[in-house]
Amino acid sequence: MTSSPAQTAPPLPVRFDLLANVSHAISTRLGGASPAPYHSLNLGVSTGDDEHNVLTNRERFFSHLNLALDDVMTARLTHGSAVSVFAREANDQPVRYVPVREGSKRWEGAFHSDAMISNVSGLHAMFTFADCVPLAFFDRKTGAVGGAHAGWRGTAQAMGPQVVRAMTRHFGSDPRDIVAGIGPSIGPCCYSVGREVADRFSSLGTEAVLEPRGSELYLDLWTTNQRQLVASGLTSDSIEISRICTSCHVDTFFSHRAEGGRTGRFGLCIGIPAR
Ligand SMILES: [Zn+2]
Repeated sequence: MTSSPAQTAPPLPVRFDLLANVSHAISTRLGGASPAPYHSLNLGVSTGDDEHNVLTNRERFFSHLNLALDDVMTARLTHGSAVSVFAREANDQPVRYVPVREGSKRWEGAFHSDAMISNVSGLHAMFTFADCVPLAFFDRKTGAVGGAHAGWRGTAQAMGPQVVRAMTRHFGSDPRDIVAGIGPSIGPCCYSVGREVADRFSSLGTEAVLEPRGSELYLDLWTTNQRQLVASGLTSDSIEISRICTSCHVDTFFSHRAEGGRTGRFGLCIGIPAR
C-alpha cells in the first residue's frame, strides 16, 4: 500500500482563527460545477460562466455556513472606498433587489460598494475575488462585523481604515476591540506593478509597501493593509494574515494575473447568524 501524497491544499473553506466565533468563510476553487476556465467553484457572474453553475456553486459554498442562496447579499464592486452600513436601528438598509446579472430572471439582494459593516442578525454578505485582498472584521465587544474587497485601488484609498472608521462612527466600536483577517490574495512574491500604482498611493497620501527586485517593482498588499490597520488603532496581534498567494496557488484559488484574466472568482462570506 502506498501512502497518499502530502496534502498541501488549504482546507475548504479557509477561515481566520482570530474570527473563530464569527460566521465567515473564504471559498477555494475546489468542489464546484463550472468547467474550465472557471473550474470549478466559480462564484462570480461577471465572468463568462453559466449563471446556473454559479448559483449551484454559491449554494455549495453557503452551505458551509448553513446558509441558503437567498440568505446572502452580494457586493456589486465599484473599486471605490464607500462602506455600506447595515444597522439594526436604520430603516433604510442599502440592499436592493436586482437581477443576478443583466437579463437574468433570478433576482438577488445586492449592495453597491466594496465594503460593508453590519450589526444586523440574519444578514450575510459576500464579496468576490481573483487576486484582490479579502478583509474581514469583528468587534469582540459589540459583535458587529465587517467585510471588504481591497485591490490595489482600494488599498490606495485606505479601504481597511475606512471600515474601522465606519464601525467606530456607526456602532461605537473601539479599534482596540476589533480583530481583522487579511485573506488569500496576490502576494509580494508575484505582484509586480507599474510606477503608476506607486504614484497613485502617493497622490492619495497613502503609503505602499513596495520592493524593487531587478527591474521590477513588487507591491506587498498584505503588509500595506496590515500597517494601515495598525495605524487605525488595531493591535498587531489582532490582525491575522492568511499569507496564501493566489497567483502561486491557482490549483486552489482563482488568480486574474496568473490566468490572464480568464478565470473565476472565489468569495468571502461574513455576517451575523439569525437569532
Ligand atoms: Zn506568489
